[in-house]
Amino acid sequence: MTIRPRPRRPQPRQDELLSSWVTRLAAANYCSVPELLGYLGFSSESPPDTGHELQGADTKRFGALARLSSSDIQGMLLVRRAGFPIDFVSCSDFQHCPTCTQKVPGVSLRHWRYVWSTICYSCGTGLLPLGTVPGEKFQVPSRLEVRASKGAVWLEQLYWRGSQQVGRQVDLALQIVRVLAPELRHAGLCSKSRHDRYAMLAAVHLLMTRPLVAVSIAMRRDPTAGERLRMAFPGQRNLLDQLVYLSCSSPTPAKDDCKIQKARFPARKSDNTIKPDFLAAAKKAIEQLGVNADRAELLRCADRTLEKSRR
Ligand SMILES: [Zn+2]
Repeated sequence: MTIRPRPRRPQPRQDELLSSWVTRLAAANYCSVPELLGYLGFSSESPPDTGHELQGADTKRFGALARLSSSDIQGMLLVRRAGFPIDFVSCSDFQHCPTCTQKVPGVSLRHWRYVWSTICYSCGTGLLPLGTVPGEKFQVPSRLEVRASKGAVWLEQLYWRGSQQVGRQVDLALQIVRVLAPELRHAGLCSKSRHDRYAMLAAVHLLMTRPLVAVSIAMRRDPTAGERLRMAFPGQRNLLDQLVYLSCSSPTPAKDDCKIQKARFPARKSDNTIKPDFLAAAKKAIEQLGVNADRAELLRCADRTLEKSRR
């Protein structure tokens, strides 16, 4: 039997999702997506986005009909790290590029699904969340944008080099951020609120790279943060008590945090192997120097311990 391709075939965009292209193919041929999927040999009603969803389908027939090689099809699928504690790839579209979607309505690119993507790699335009949150403004403070961008780059590097252990650490960092910053308790890395998503990216980055500083800043801003941490993590009460002591004994006003951080935490050559075990570092510093030691000395000691563990 000779298999003839469909008469209308939009050209796939670079890095376009298979589901996006199949949807555009259906629109170009004036048929529904489920009807086209049935014709292409898929049993599901929604187009596949991952290799797992493609299993069981006659990919040879699909490739012939769609005029796509096996490598073309693989290049249009999302890559998920199997068994990773948290998913850095959204299972649905949550943001888009206004420039690309204006040129090609309905298009969706693969990298828009990654939680670290903040700009479109195709045209350089800033990505915007899909849908609107009441009262939400797309514009975010430039400082937050810079900090979120750093966090996004760091998360991407961490994911591609990462391990199960790193995934668990990021998962724990997300939980701690939601405890320390109640305004972010419903936020996520794929939040449709741009401000919340950027705040979460920045907060996770700070907590993972400078955990002691992050917790100290949160406690200085809100004295109840320590109690919330104790309630959220009851098994770590002793360590948290010591951390609260470190924070409360700080003579430094919060507004000087940036200067103090630069002085106390010189730039590290690499933050990619860090462990967010700030509680253990604080405990060790107190054990070594005593509870009445100068706070600056305690912080320096804890930072040295963290750096050693990271090396
Ligand atoms: Zn774009």
